[in-house]
Amino acid sequence: MPAPTHPADVLIIGGGAGGLSCAITLASAQKKKWFEDRRIVIVDDGTSDLKKARLFNVPGVTPGTLGSDLLSELEVQLGQYECATMLRGTVQRAERLPGGRFIATLEQGEEVVATKLVIATGYKRWDVEGLDHVPEPHPKGGKTNRIHLPHDGCYRIEPDLHVAGLLAGGSSQFAIAAGIGAQVAVELLSEWAGKRTHVHDNA
Ligand SMILES: Cc1cc2nc3c(=O)[nH]c(=O)nc-3n(C[C@H](O)[C@H](O)[C@H](O)COP(=O)(O)OP(=O)(O)OC[C@H]3O[C@@H](n4cnc5c(N)ncnc54)[C@H](O)[C@@H]3O)c2cc1C
Repeated sequence: MPAPTHPADVLIIGGGAGGLSCAITLASAQKKKWFEDRRIVIVDDGTSDLKKARLFNVPGVTPGTLGSDLLSELEVQLGQYECATMLRGTVQRAERLPGGRFIATLEQGEEVVATKLVIATGYKRWDVEGLDHVPEPHPKGGKTNRIHLPHDGCYRIEPDLHVAGLLAGGSSQFAIAAGIGAQVAVELLSEWAGKRTHVHDNA
């Protein structure tokens, strides 16, 4: 049987602090009329830096919390939204299709076809082939092998292609990675709403 193809309005590659924050903020708007029946797909292969962390300075998080526990909580939080799907696997290739959408291919042949693509793969590795952009040295990474993808100042690389988390150039703090993810989500939601927006009080 051929591997499945998943349609998505937004594909997020990378489910760490930045990617999950972006997905949760996007999905939290699912009851808005202008959200329509959009779908969010996030793909992650389980190497988030959070898995190595014990957290003492993340606002609102009990000091001493394991990063792996916080990551699990974020995945559960995302799971409450019917519009979002999390896939386990490595995206090996992502490219533009004629007409402008993106296609991403996972290692087992599974595919995601998406209108918008958010790359949130962290600042340590880059193994996604097929895009016309390659990372540069990270300006705030502290070590020479940290990377970032240049963007327009608001995390857009080109139309419908965005970068989130530390790969966007932020310093290595959970709040910064998650904050960039949330900002990217707000940019996309504002496009869909047709005006500047953000999501509050939307339980
Ligand atoms: C030891 C340690 C301790 C830390 N302690 C703290 C602390 O006390 N306070 C604090 O604020 N921050 C701390 N941090 C920093 C925090 O963990 C990071 O800032 C945050 O995780 C970065 O988020 P990110 O989304 O950019 O990257 P990550 O969380 O690393 O997520 C990137 C994700 O992308 C996925 N990915 C990459 N490539 C692919 C691909 N091709 N296909 C599919 N998935 C892919 C990876 O599997 C990973 O899950 C610590 C980090 C470390 C290493």
